[in-house]
Amino acid sequence: MRIGFGYDIHRFADNRELWLGGIKIPYDKGLLGHSDADVLLHAVCDALLGASGEGDIGKLFPDTDPKYKDISSIYLLEEVVKNVSLKGFVIENIDVTVICEMPKIGPYSQKIEQKISDVLSIDISRINIKAKTNEKIDAIGTGEAIAVHAVCLLS
Ligand code: MG
Repeated sequence: MRIGFGYDIHRFADNRELWLGGIKIPYDKGLLGHSDADVLLHAVCDALLGASGEGDIGKLFPDTDPKYKDISSIYLLEEVVKNVSLKGFVIENIDVTVICEMPKIGPYSQKIEQKISDVLSIDISRINIKAKTNEKIDAIGTGEAIAVHAVCLLS
């Protein structure tokens, strides 16, 4: 058994789409980043890479590489999962906490669980998405950013 932990944070920016867990969420701002800035999938990728001892997402997909400009983070997750499988690991479960003041993520959590379980080819019961606010404290609490923590277990 191998445990992995991933963390990511992205700030909001105007004129960007909001992608979270591979789902496009209607909102008047999106997250800033080199790729589609899907902070949730980035944290999941880092958890998987951490558990399999493969470094981190920045090492695999450098943001200086034009190849990854505006790329869907679903592609990054697919590549990470390939890596994990090649090393002989099976994903037991993934647990995620999204910290975000606005928009409300709860209504989308099941859709996100479905999307991730599809990409990982594992049962949806093995993916868990939780959403909470930062109680209006700090940059996340004033709606400037979304942060995500993710853990996974590989066998
Ligand atoms: Mg990121």
